[in-house]
Amino acid sequence: MDFYVILGVEREATLADVKRAYKRLARRFHPDINPGDRRAEAQFRQIAEAYETLSDVERRRRYDTAGPVTPDGSGPAFGFEGFDFTISVGGADASTFGDLFADVLHQREARRAHGTPERGVDLHQAMALAFDESIRGGQRAVTVLRQEYCATCQGVGQLHVDPSPCPQCHGSGVMKSARGHMVFTKPCLHCGGSGQQRQTRCPACSGEQVEMRTESMTINVPPGLADGARIRIPGKGNAGRNGGETGDLYVGVTVEPHPLFQRDGDDLHLTVPIALHEAALGAKIDVPSLDGPARVRVPPGTQSGQRFRVRERGVPSSRDGRRGDLVVEVQLVLPKLLDERSKELLREFGRINGDDVRAELMK
Ligand SMILES: [Zn+2]
Ligand SMILES: [Zn+2]
Repeated sequence: MDFYVILGVEREATLADVKRAYKRLARRFHPDINPGDRRAEAQFRQIAEAYETLSDVERRRRYDTAGPVTPDGSGPAFGFEGFDFTISVGGADASTFGDLFADVLHQREARRAHGTPERGVDLHQAMALAFDESIRGGQRAVTVLRQEYCATCQGVGQLHVDPSPCPQCHGSGVMKSARGHMVFTKPCLHCGGSGQQRQTRCPACSGEQVEMRTESMTINVPPGLADGARIRIPGKGNAGRNGGETGDLYVGVTVEPHPLFQRDGDDLHLTVPIALHEAALGAKIDVPSLDGPARVRVPPGTQSGQRFRVRERGVPSSRDGRRGDLVVEVQLVLPKLLDERSKELLREFGRINGDDVRAELMK
């Protein structure tokens, strides 16, 4: 973990460069802006740690020569685990932190100022996985059309206009009208009688606070997902209104069927043909599995439809990674008898084992 890389600054970066980089990153990854997003939270923790070190001349010098200071080290290490960034750090850092977050926090307050917070709507999207892909898992690119805070007003819906005299009443707050000798006054409608120009509705989003944006992201598909599974991506639904939480994105998974294997929980089912002599005399047969051929021992006297379990050759569980089994069902396949010799052998077989196989039924 290189602090310079995390902040995206050169080794020669000045304190101002470091602050600027930090501020830019904090705006993207601050927990208040990404409520519930654990990845952003973890990223922000690293960013804050990098900033803590690189913005302090003495600590930065030590980092440059010896690497990061550990909690057991000599330097004053900061514990960022569980740190609440909305309260200020004590001592000399307090004002710095306050300055850096003032506008971030102000923005959140501004979003809240205009009404009851409403949570953003959850979004749903479908994703088709090939069978092998669902077993292996991996990364998939997802593109989602979602409502994000309007870039012009940062989700406030209003553009703050510096207080200036209302152009309609020239700052007096009242409108005068004369009728004969009488002069009537009434509150100015344009400024509501304040005499000051009000905040104006954001022209980009017409005060809606949000705009549609197409966002591409890479999501982790855990191995072993079954058809109908759902992946939740927190904070990637629609943005909330009035400072409300952002909704989540749910990706619904459909898995294409496999030509050989049928899935049943974390077990895989497979039907394989077995020859007459193998079933009668017993055999070791090789059957396909997810990871190459698997050997199944078929005992003598095996019946058609009998099942054999190959341990841990099924699907890895998407919960704990433990693998299910491969369940092999054998199906007796009779040979097409084309030659006299085989027919003669079977006739002889019939004579020797002449028992009536239906005797039980006819009693
Ligand atoms: Zn706007
Ligand atoms: Zn006015």
